[in-house]
Amino acid sequence: MSNHLSDRIKNMSTSATLAMAAKARELRSEGKDIIGLSLGEPDFNIPDFIKEAAKQAIDENYSSYTPVDGYAELKKSISGKFKRDNGLDYGLNQIVVSTGAKQSLFNVAMVVLNPGDEVILPAPYWVSYSDIVKLAEGVPVEVPTGIDTDFKMTPQQLEAAITPNTRMMWFSSPCNPSGSVYSKEELEGLAEVLKKHPDIYVVSDEIYEHINFAGGHVSIAGIEGMYDRTVTVNGVSKAFAMTGWRIGYIGAPEWIAKGCTKLQGQVTSGANSIAQRAVIAALDAPLSKIQFMIDEFHKRRDLVLDLLGEIDGFKLNVPEGAFYVFPDISSFFGKTLKGTTINSAEDFALYLLEHANVATVTGEAFGNPNCIRISYAASEKELREAIARIKAVV
Ligand code: PMP
Ligand code: GLU
Repeated sequence: MSNHLSDRIKNMSTSATLAMAAKARELRSEGKDIIGLSLGEPDFNIPDFIKEAAKQAIDENYSSYTPVDGYAELKKSISGKFKRDNGLDYGLNQIVVSTGAKQSLFNVAMVVLNPGDEVILPAPYWVSYSDIVKLAEGVPVEVPTGIDTDFKMTPQQLEAAITPNTRMMWFSSPCNPSGSVYSKEELEGLAEVLKKHPDIYVVSDEIYEHINFAGGHVSIAGIEGMYDRTVTVNGVSKAFAMTGWRIGYIGAPEWIAKGCTKLQGQVTSGANSIAQRAVIAALDAPLSKIQFMIDEFHKRRDLVLDLLGEIDGFKLNVPEGAFYVFPDISSFFGKTLKGTTINSAEDFALYLLEHANVATVTGEAFGNPNCIRISYAASEKELREAIARIKAVV
């Protein structure tokens, strides 16, 4: 039988982060001692009080379909969290709970974009943004940034990227993959430009908000004039180490929230009931309960910067948040290492996998061809060993 795979899927790239993680798993199963620094996934166990809430939900028979947009109790907790952590007032009719922030992003793209609508993506951007936009028949417009501006887009760059077809701008702060954090002043600068273009909406992906070593996360929705045109995306995968529980959510203008609920009603019927109950416990808890993870990431960030800083040819910014470093390794391009010529970041990542047994991700997947992404969501022992191996082969 011939293959009738749709053009939609044929034209889509495989998630590079998930592909590299799968490759590392495969090599491990063949007996290779691979250190996986490709996946952005906290390596902590989730706090016990969250596990207890999930067990209780099972015992209390939370086993039916939930409201499509999430339990009202959970939406109350999310509304409380937005107020407590971000100073944002989102009513329950503005909140939609989904199967991970990834689905939240997909919903928003499908609800807001028409074919040909342009979405500005300051690059580097999180790996899935461009494929999600394309799936919704939008056109990603990448705005390249470099290590010289700490991988942040300036207001002038934003202004220059806007066309009559621009419908949205998507970004993450703290940023995956660069770890960069936009300050209030920097966000105000972007907002100034956007104010002149009232039909452009913003997706502010704040999933790393708590993993911020500079302190003081700022939500762009809180900046004057931005609330009615911003979708604030968040979730529990990173701050609570709950990646597999698959809960994400948005706070948004009501029409966008309604659209997402309509879409979700035809696609998933809503997020998992037990996970939703557990997330109520997570979001209602004081932030002090997760501080140990943030402190640990901070220590590892410093360690990784010190160790990578000793390697010639690695150019680094100082990431203020998330758990990634994004070194510029373009100085290796054109060089031959152990018989392998390195012409791209992908060649370099593959070289590290083959010769150092360390899995990283090429920056090309994040819209920056000069860098690789290294996740430091791994133990200190693994990080030391991985970087020693990298040093030995470059
Ligand atoms: N946004 C960013 C910037 C991420 O790094 C991730 C990590 N997967 C997501 C969204 C999606 O998270 P979730 O696990 O909630 O789908
Ligand atoms: N956000 C993580 C990463 O960037 C998880 C992988 C994914 O969902 O693609 O590695």
